[in-house]
Amino acid sequence: MAFEGLGERLQQTLQKIKGKGKVTEADVKEMMREVRFALIEADVNLKVVKEFVKKVSERAVGSDVMQSLTPGQQVVKIVRDELAELMGGETEAITFAKKPPTVIMMVGLQGAGKTTTTGKLANLIRKKYNRKPLLAAADVYRPAAIQQLETIGKQLGMPVFQLGTEADPVDIAKQAVAKAKEDHNDVVFIDTAGRLQIDEDLMQELRNIHDAVKPDEVYLVVDAMTGQVAANVAETFDQQVGVTGVVLTKLDGDTRGGAALSIRSVTGKPIKFAGMGEKLDALEPFHPERMASRILG
Ligand code: GDP
Repeated sequence: MAFEGLGERLQQTLQKIKGKGKVTEADVKEMMREVRFALIEADVNLKVVKEFVKKVSERAVGSDVMQSLTPGQQVVKIVRDELAELMGGETEAITFAKKPPTVIMMVGLQGAGKTTTTGKLANLIRKKYNRKPLLAAADVYRPAAIQQLETIGKQLGMPVFQLGTEADPVDIAKQAVAKAKEDHNDVVFIDTAGRLQIDEDLMQELRNIHDAVKPDEVYLVVDAMTGQVAANVAETFDQQVGVTGVVLTKLDGDTRGGAALSIRSVTGKPIKFAGMGEKLDALEPFHPERMASRILG
C-alpha cells in the first residue's frame, strides 16, 4: 500500500493533539516538528516541506482554532486540507478539442509506465467519455515499444497506427492525426519515446512533435517510486516541452509519498491520474482530498 509509513507517522502525531480541549503554540510546534520529519522521511522535496509546515503552523495558531471548542480536531482538519491542497486541490478534467480529434501526447522516461498508461487512459476515455481512440506508436527507438502498443491495442480492441522503426516520429504523429480524421477516431494518443535519462535529443524530438500536431494535452507519466526525483523530472519536461498534466504510476506499490506530495508544488501542474496496477483497467482519476484522507486514515 502506498504512503503506509507516512500515514502511520502522521496518524500517530495527530492522535496526540486530536482530543485536546486546549492547544498551545508549543503543542503546535511539537506536532509540526514530527510532521516535518515524517514528510522528509517520505522523500518530499525540502522546500515543499518548509512551506507546508509554515502554512499549517500559521493556520493552526490562528485565533479561530485557539478559541474553538474542539481545537485539536481543527488542527487535524487543517493538516488534512493542506495535504490535499499540496496534491492539487480540486480534481481537474481532461481538455477535449472543440473540433475532433483531441490529440493527447504521452511523454516520460523509459520504464515510467508510459506505454501501459497510454492503453489504460485510452480505455478509461472510451468507457467514461464514450470516445473512440486511436493509438499511435511514435517510439521508434525501442523496438519492443511498437509491439507492446500493438498488443495493448489488440487487448482493448483499439486501432494502432505505426510506420515501423525507420519512420520519423514527427511524420508518424502527423499521419496518425490525419488517419484519425479519416477513420473518425475522436482521440489520438501519441506514445512518444522515452530515455533512461533526460537528454537534449529527446527533448528536441518531443518539441518537434508538439509543434507539428499541437496537442490538446501533454501528459507526463512518472513513476511514484522515484520519490521527489519525479518532481524534478516533471519540472524539466514542463520547461522543455510543456506539460498539461501528470500521471503518477505504481501507486499500488509501497511508494513513500514524495512524488505525490512534491510534484504539484514544484511544477504547478496537476496530477490528473493515478496508476494502480499493471492491468489495463488499473487507472483512476487522482483525487487529492481522497488521497489526503487515505494518508491520514
Ligand atoms: P514505458 O517504458 O514508460 O513505456 O513503460 P511501460 O509501459 O513499458 O511500463 C514499465 C513497467 O511498469 C511494466 O512492467 C508495466 O506493467 C509497469 N507498470 C506501469 N504502470 C504501472 C502501475 O500503475 N502499477 C504497477 N504495479 N506497474 C505498472
